[in-house]
Amino acid sequence: AGTVTVQVRVAHVGPRHVLVLGEDRTQARRVEEIRRDFAVNVSHELKTPVGALALLAETVEAAADDPDAVRRFATRMQGEAARLSTLVQEIIELSRLQVASAIQELVPVDVDGVIAEAVDRARTGAAAKRIVFEVGAPAGVRVFGDHALLVTAVRNLLDNAVAYSPEHTRVGVGVRVVGGIVEIAVVDQGIGIDPDDQERLFERFYRVDPARSRDTGGTGLGLSIVKHVVADHGGEVTVWSQPGQGSTFTLRLPEADAAHAQDPDPSPTL
Ligand code: ADP
Repeated sequence: AGTVTVQVRVAHVGPRHVLVLGEDRTQARRVEEIRRDFAVNVSHELKTPVGALALLAETVEAAADDPDAVRRFATRMQGEAARLSTLVQEIIELSRLQVASAIQELVPVDVDGVIAEAVDRARTGAAAKRIVFEVGAPAGVRVFGDHALLVTAVRNLLDNAVAYSPEHTRVGVGVRVVGGIVEIAVVDQGIGIDPDDQERLFERFYRVDPARSRDTGGTGLGLSIVKHVVADHGGEVTVWSQPGQGSTFTLRLPEADAAHAQDPDPSPTL
């Protein structure tokens, strides 16, 4: 539909407009491509757990008179179902973020509150690997945005830090404000990431090691979701890493202007 509109409009305007509309069309085509690729990726990714479930169901049926085997396969089916459920949730989250800004209303958000909640949610996974969180988040630092989305972003970074680190290591979360930009850094002592892979990490479904990602319950969507959330907040996410020396993921978000935060409706006082 976008293409037709462009062609009709091009017929009625001068060369300057043709150039602008040509860009529109490129943009529309690009959006269409992204959508199509996403649909292809999604169906591919869904096939694995769905296929595994179907196979396990057949196996359970065949093992009907061996209660131990039935229990074992049933447990594996639960695992596959949980994986499928996470995958579907993240696909929904990402499609919501891809369509348009998911932020309903920009309000001042306390960064230390976001971090406390994200750490709380990631704690169980960390405890299972005896990984300790060390948080240094000063009170009073704020950004404009959506609390829940920012919790999701920080939590995804923490879950990754835990997933790709050995047991008994530390994960640090630090906050600092540099020239009106709030930097939230998540630092781990994990396996690190090869420089060749670093550029592609934020692509949907990209994993350095698919088997490892799968073992840790990964979907390949976490960093893509982080990227969209920070973009919606007018910020960016970057990575520093060296194989074997851990990784640091940094979110950079514009600081909520102190004057605005304290006085959202500055009426003149006479
Ligand atoms: P996944 O669900 O596979 O973790 P993500 O989108 O969150 O997907 O991350 C993409 C890939 O980036 C991961 O599969 C992993 O290879 C790599 N990665 C992400 N975070 C880290 C980290 N802290 N340390 C090492 N590798 C990481």
